[in-house]
Amino acid sequence: MIRVLFPGSFDPPTNGHMNIIHRIANIFDKVEIVISINVQKSYLFQPEERFEMMSTLVEGYENVRVHLWDKLIVDFAEKVGANVIIRGVRALGDFPHEFELSMINRGLHNKIETLLIPTDPKYFVLRTSSIKEMVMFGGDVSSMVPAIVEKALRDRLNGL
Ligand code: ADP
Repeated sequence: MIRVLFPGSFDPPTNGHMNIIHRIANIFDKVEIVISINVQKSYLFQPEERFEMMSTLVEGYENVRVHLWDKLIVDFAEKVGANVIIRGVRALGDFPHEFELSMINRGLHNKIETLLIPTDPKYFVLRTSSIKEMVMFGGDVSSMVPAIVEKALRDRLNGL
């Protein structure tokens, strides 16, 4: 049985994230989505809000679970006995960062494997930062994020 971790901020979840989740849920037996809590990062949504949104979005998948985690991802891997980390790559520009992360994680845990999955071309321009900006300027993001996320973004950003 292969259990994989898909860690990230998911602030908020986008169709690009959901596409990766859909694809890996079809390949692997179990997918553990690990929503990071990093005190050094400033998020638009609280950890619990990101957890709620993601939990709702993966309700249809029997083999996908969602977790909140405020320590190193390799510690989560040890805790649940999984050693495969999945990360998505949107463009070549993502690669240096993802490559470095994989080196760091491998240095911390010598059994950890990182698999990089290229985005579906439909989602290659999706970044949470530009989606937030578009919502602030009244743009239509309905093709970029699930409907519940679009609503949450409007509620949060249109009052700013
Ligand atoms: P982090 O802050 O850890 O990078 P993100 O929530 O931004 O967290 O992303 C989580 C993972 O999803 C990362 O591996 C990222 O590259 C991937 N990802 C984000 N957007 C897309 C997309 N449109 N297509 C494929 N993968 C994506």
